[in-house]
Amino acid sequence: GIELKDEEGEEVAERLGVRLTSPHRVVYPDQGTTKAQLVDYYSEVAEAMLPHIANRPLSLVRCPQGRAKHCFFQKHDTGSFPEQIYSQTITEKDGDRQNYFFIKDLAGLVAGTQMNVLEWHIWGSHFDDVDKPDRLVFDIDPDEGLDFSHIISAATDIRDRLADLGLKSVPMVSGGKGVHVIVPLKPEMDWAEAKTFCRDFAKKLESDEPDRFTANLSKAKRKGRLFIDYLRNERGSTAIAPWSVRSREGAPVAVPVTWDEVPRLKGANIFSLEAAAERAQGDNAWPDYFKLKQKLTAKMLKAVSG
Ligand code: ATP
Ligand code: MN
Ligand code: MN
Repeated sequence: GIELKDEEGEEVAERLGVRLTSPHRVVYPDQGTTKAQLVDYYSEVAEAMLPHIANRPLSLVRCPQGRAKHCFFQKHDTGSFPEQIYSQTITEKDGDRQNYFFIKDLAGLVAGTQMNVLEWHIWGSHFDDVDKPDRLVFDIDPDEGLDFSHIISAATDIRDRLADLGLKSVPMVSGGKGVHVIVPLKPEMDWAEAKTFCRDFAKKLESDEPDRFTANLSKAKRKGRLFIDYLRNERGSTAIAPWSVRSREGAPVAVPVTWDEVPRLKGANIFSLEAAAERAQGDNAWPDYFKLKQKLTAKMLKAVSG
């Protein structure tokens, strides 16, 4: 198996010209995982991860005192980040102009780790066409205590319903509690249409099987059910990036899996940093992902509406 080492992380940072301070500082106390080991991890997964994260607006979870201490979401670049982390202006819904982070390469992942980023969240669009989503996410959020088998069957049912509409999808364990069913798209429809499609799709699941599904965010409505979180599919919303570590117990990773593996999964937080680094070598879980040129069509929107 892969062992993550301080020396290797330090070497990577040095080679890429990113200043890594306190490389031996422990960021995951329960695992004893250090900053330099996280850098080593990202160097192992970069080839698999970068195609999913590069050049997209980002939202970062930063934990300056390490996991389990105070962490915060940072959406806007207010300065003081290393030069390997870039930013560009986006006009928000209310007209505010804000600088959003993006990265291009491993140096960006290393620089983020230097800034205590423990989670990398991505928009569903790229900077060069920020108003046209190129990935949709159906985020399956279970009620407290619901067995993982319910998430498995929900994921495959969502896959089948999407396939009936003509859309291929891929599964990812979130590193937390649920599975994300992801639909890669040619960036053609705008955010409003994408959100309408996802909302109607979730509402149809709910109306067809109200005992299993809810499309309502409220925890009260979730009792024994799965919330199909379609709200990821809005301009400005984010989802955890494939291969990002999570700032959760066990330092679990969000990992792409295959539909064949899904029925056998024991949970969404099963991949440690080492296990994920191992899997990333020659990763081929989503072989068609970047080849699929599928579009969201007016016909699909109509099929799920009302
Ligand atoms: P789990 O499987 O445990 O649900 P998850 O990554 O799907 O893990 P959610 O709580 O369902 O976590 O959140 C989905 C997404 O919403 C996150 O990946 C993140 O991008 C976004 N998100 C969650 N909380 C915030 C927040 N406070 N600020 C900004 N975005 C958030
Ligand atoms: Mn979720
Ligand atoms: Mn959610």
